[in-house]
Amino acid sequence: MKNVFGPGLILMIVIIATAISCNKDSAVEDTSTVGTTDITSVVQSNYIGTSTVAVSGSGITIKSTGLPNHKTPYWGVGNALYEDFPSGYHANVNTSISAHTYSMTIPGKPVIASSHEETTLGPIGMALNGVPIYNDREGGNVPLDALTITTFDYSGAHPGPGQDYHYHTTGRYTTQDDAKLVGFLRDGFPIYGRKDTTGVYPTLDAYGGHTGPTQDFPNGIYHYHASNVNYLNTGYYILKAGSYYGTKGTFTF
Ligand SMILES: [Zn+2]
Ligand SMILES: [Zn+2]
Repeated sequence: MKNVFGPGLILMIVIIATAISCNKDSAVEDTSTVGTTDITSVVQSNYIGTSTVAVSGSGITIKSTGLPNHKTPYWGVGNALYEDFPSGYHANVNTSISAHTYSMTIPGKPVIASSHEETTLGPIGMALNGVPIYNDREGGNVPLDALTITTFDYSGAHPGPGQDYHYHTTGRYTTQDDAKLVGFLRDGFPIYGRKDTTGVYPTLDAYGGHTGPTQDFPNGIYHYHASNVNYLNTGYYILKAGSYYGTKGTFTF
């Protein structure tokens, strides 16, 4: 019988393995200052609610009041957009929400950062309705705990001490086990629900994203996904934790 594992085959495997590892290295070391995919038209056509989008040079500025365009208990009883908390959740929270002056400026062509900066407390991105996106932390930079999560509404959101309403997780009015575009993070890369448009849960890198086609970018772009981990078994899924993939822009408030 012929030996199918001859030297030719082994050499081929070595060549393929080398090519794969070189590809990986070149992706990590790409530190150009301008990315290849322009997000401008997708940003312009998807922001809604109180959000306004302005393009200036190589940057895009999105302004909003941060007030949600959907129901939440934080509007207060009597408001047309009032709905109760999820069953068993905090029913006597006094905090309400108020309008803010948010301005997020992101690159029109987002680019991979040479060193990946950790996300911090406060806004790390903006959902399509102008509500800020926060990471998996609370004051004191500690991970969200079960008690804090009982202050969440159906959107995985609550206000901070400044009546500043924000999303930490997936929820009823943003994304739930689907491939919806949620918004953009401060580095200009889009963030989607837990699934890809193909219906599968993608394998994510250390930044919670990967490169591939999306509904809005059929030719492919780096994009984040909501975590596919049921956080503390609460039924909520963290939108984004850890470091940015790209070089971040500004968010003033
Ligand atoms: Zn919070
Ligand atoms: Zn994806």
